[in-house]
Amino acid sequence: MTSVRDFFRTFFLWELLLGLKLTGRNLFARKLTIQYPEESAPQSPRFRGLHALRRYPNGEERCIACKLCEAVCPALAITIDSEQREDGTRRTTRYDIDLFKCIYCGFCEESCPVDSIVETRIFEYHMENRGENIITKDQLLAIGDKYEHQIAQDRAMDAPFR
Ligand code: SF4
Ligand code: SF4
Repeated sequence: MTSVRDFFRTFFLWELLLGLKLTGRNLFARKLTIQYPEESAPQSPRFRGLHALRRYPNGEERCIACKLCEAVCPALAITIDSEQREDGTRRTTRYDIDLFKCIYCGFCEESCPVDSIVETRIFEYHMENRGENIITKDQLLAIGDKYEHQIAQDRAMDAPFR
């Protein structure tokens, strides 16, 4: 019986008709494809893209060199050196992230007690030369300065869920 059914299915191109039915159903449906890069998909405020280091409104860097982010990073992508300033506060002298090692898990961001290291919505970046995968403290602070408005907005939106 099964072989007879298979014969008729093959003879009448049943699978092909099923495929055409699916095509027909979606022919006039709303298109989900977007024309990237002219169009972009909506992003969550929790999007985990390129990192940034933030400052307080008075310009002081937030990071207190506690190294929690370095300790929690499962990819060992963060390298921090620190020193004590003359005023007794502790700050980083080096804060590197190896973007080749990073898996964008967001653990560094979650662990930071002062909301210093964050992941931004930036995902369109590239490297052209050897070594550019290491993003330095100055670069991270510059990204933080440039995108602080968006970062603060995203943190505020996410605050009720933390
Ligand atoms: S996002 Fe994850 S892997 Fe990347 S630096 Fe932060 S903790 Fe490490
Ligand atoms: S970024 Fe945050 S978690 Fe990492 S060393 Fe600085 S204060 Fe600590």
